[in-house]
Amino acid sequence: KNKLLEIKGLKTYFYSDEGVVPAVDGVDITIREGETVGIVGESGCGKSVTSLTTMRLTPGKVVEGSIHFDGKDILALTDDEMRSIRGNDMAMIFQEPMTSLNPVFTIGEQIGEATRIHFGYNKPKAKSHAVEMLKLVGIPRPEHIVDEYPHQLSGGMRQRVMIAMAMACEPKLLIADEPTTALDVTIQAQILDLMRKLRAEKNTAIMLITHDLGVVAEMCDRVIVMYGGKVVEESDVVTIFTNPKHPYTQGLMKSIPSLEVEERRLYSIKGNVPIPGSLRDGCTFAPRCEFAMENCRKDAPQLMEIEPGHVSRCWLHTP
Ligand code: SF4
Ligand code: MG
Repeated sequence: KNKLLEIKGLKTYFYSDEGVVPAVDGVDITIREGETVGIVGESGCGKSVTSLTTMRLTPGKVVEGSIHFDGKDILALTDDEMRSIRGNDMAMIFQEPMTSLNPVFTIGEQIGEATRIHFGYNKPKAKSHAVEMLKLVGIPRPEHIVDEYPHQLSGGMRQRVMIAMAMACEPKLLIADEPTTALDVTIQAQILDLMRKLRAEKNTAIMLITHDLGVVAEMCDRVIVMYGGKVVEESDVVTIFTNPKHPYTQGLMKSIPSLEVEERRLYSIKGNVPIPGSLRDGCTFAPRCEFAMENCRKDAPQLMEIEPGHVSRCWLHTP
């Protein structure tokens, strides 16, 4: 299949009084047409910044690298050109729909906005299309809901509306950042079902950003594990679960319940390191790695191919 998204050597940095934070630090990601790729890691690993940079919505600065999407050089487009892609060929759904839905517009107006902009639909046409989209995402009484406001809906319904909005223009790539995290288990399962159905019907490629390995197992073809702004491991979904190679990935697989504690530790490490670049000598995972060797703290490992289609960034793999 053709490459739809190709990110190469991407670096997105944040600058503050305390120094430079390399949130995304040399990332390569390829997503093919119709493929679902999971981007996995804890908060602060750079996965959300990667997706926001792909949409050109990052508050950080892109200092290096390239992003090609559907034959276009994303970083070279004008703002107008980018706007015509966003919400059209490339759409995004977020974790918290209430912050992305506008409280003063009806559900129908919000779903219809994209088709009015990108397809030139008039108001009645945009509204009837919005009703179709609400049906597609399994909202009951869509003719009625289309005239309601976000606060009148439950969290699960709002998330469906977000997906309807994102899918309204039949995007080639859907970027979903923790799309089910805020939802209870039943609704979560329904939303994942829905995404699978839409993917099957429309051949939408999905960049699925999550810390939830259950969601990854259910949805993804391929998995990219990020740590400290870098890709540390990548493989097909079965391999990542049956034969994880990077100590960080192995840790993720082992200690799912303790993730939250680990996350706090990660934050405290970051908070104590205001000196620019100090974390960048050696392996970024070394402070937390039980296998860390002396050279791990001096030299940064590169991604190494373990087997075809499976790469990992760790000195343990050197023969
Ligand atoms: Fe651990 Fe060293 Fe591998 Fe980094 S390179 S993950 S510190 S063993
Ligand atoms: Mg995030």
